[in-house]
Amino acid sequence: MRTIFLFPAIFIFLLLVQPSTAQTTGSVNQDNFLKNGVVAHRGAWKKDGLPQNSIASLKKAISLEVAGSEFDVQLTADGVLVLNHDAVYEGMHIEKTKYSGLKKHPLKNGEVLPTLDNYLKIGMKQQKTRLILELKPSQISKERSLLLAQKAVAKVNKMRAQPWITYISFDYDILKEIVRLDPSAKTMYLNGDVSPEQLKADGISGADYHFNVFRKDENWISNAHKAGIETNVWTVNDPLLMDYFLARDIDFITTDEPETLLKKVAEME
Ligand code: MG
Repeated sequence: MRTIFLFPAIFIFLLLVQPSTAQTTGSVNQDNFLKNGVVAHRGAWKKDGLPQNSIASLKKAISLEVAGSEFDVQLTADGVLVLNHDAVYEGMHIEKTKYSGLKKHPLKNGEVLPTLDNYLKIGMKQQKTRLILELKPSQISKERSLLLAQKAVAKVNKMRAQPWITYISFDYDILKEIVRLDPSAKTMYLNGDVSPEQLKADGISGADYHFNVFRKDENWISNAHKAGIETNVWTVNDPLLMDYFLARDIDFITTDEPETLLKKVAEME
């Protein structure tokens, strides 16, 4: 009888001692992350015709060696964190549909609609490209927006993915909730209507604003840096606009054309 119970015991023991991702990420060296300032918007999808926010677009961004790869996260009706830009996926409202229903409809390249869990697992296999996690505000309620923030932080912390992650959002309350839950989290605000000094006072670490906000005030970027606030500009696809921001010492440029921007950055060095 004893041997019958011994096999399950050995199996459980092997599971416990097997090194997991969570155990190996404590030693991430922040200096390893690339400093070229290029952020691929929804992954690197355009050149190869990949679906936006797909695992394939993340892998492509990583292979290009960009400093960051951005992606959009939303909450399904049954509380699963999934990647999609729009509130509606294949005619289904994500917030009102269970993940089991959404995943019946694959992406154009055959991938299952990615979960945050799967996405982070791929992103954490390397330590060069940061993962820029955009939290999409709920269209149903502020409570669900805050629930999205809480679930995302819980997932990131559980996977020990903090060194990779910068949280971004158009919803200031989402970012404040993230700062409350993890005061050391990197956070950047997207909506363009808060000063660097106010961001600093609220514990937000960066301004990730539309290019017109930065262009309207020539001193915005330098003032932000003086206040200890990082700067990221979206979404810069025009080569002349890339030149404009590269000349102004911005920290990050988010683009649908990472190949073009990487070439420009390399030419400057
Ligand atoms: Mg986004």
